[in-house]
Amino acid sequence: MHVAAIREGIVIDHIPPKKLFKVAALLHLEDATSPVTIGNNLESSYLGKKGIIKVADASFSDELLNRIAIVAPNVHLNVIKDYEVVEKKQVEQPDKVVGIIRCTNEKCITNNEDMPTCFHYHKEEEEEYFACHYCGRKIKADKIELL
Ligand SMILES: [Zn+2]
Repeated sequence: MHVAAIREGIVIDHIPPKKLFKVAALLHLEDATSPVTIGNNLESSYLGKKGIIKVADASFSDELLNRIAIVAPNVHLNVIKDYEVVEKKQVEQPDKVVGIIRCTNEKCITNNEDMPTCFHYHKEEEEEYFACHYCGRKIKADKIELL
């Protein structure tokens, strides 16, 4: 599949295919008014298959980078100007995530008071999860719900 070049905007590349729609959701692409290109299960030399998202006339805010890091920490982020990659950004899995993940414990204070959620990232052997700072609820990394 040919993915059209964009003149200005951002490209999120090397997204694991199973995470593509999660990344699309946290970018709020449903509200985008500029051209958006989404491709999935494209051939990739080192991932096997990959997904890619291109958004014209958009930029990476720190909050957006943090959100992407939670869902897909190893993606490639490119900033495009005049059809050229002018900047590459990297995201890192943050140890602490404030105000992005919803706590699945209905009794948690963050679901009952007007306050931001706070989660700590943990990795034990191959299991990745986020633990709520307030109630201790552990949520597997692939099961998180974003606010
Ligand atoms: Zn909680």
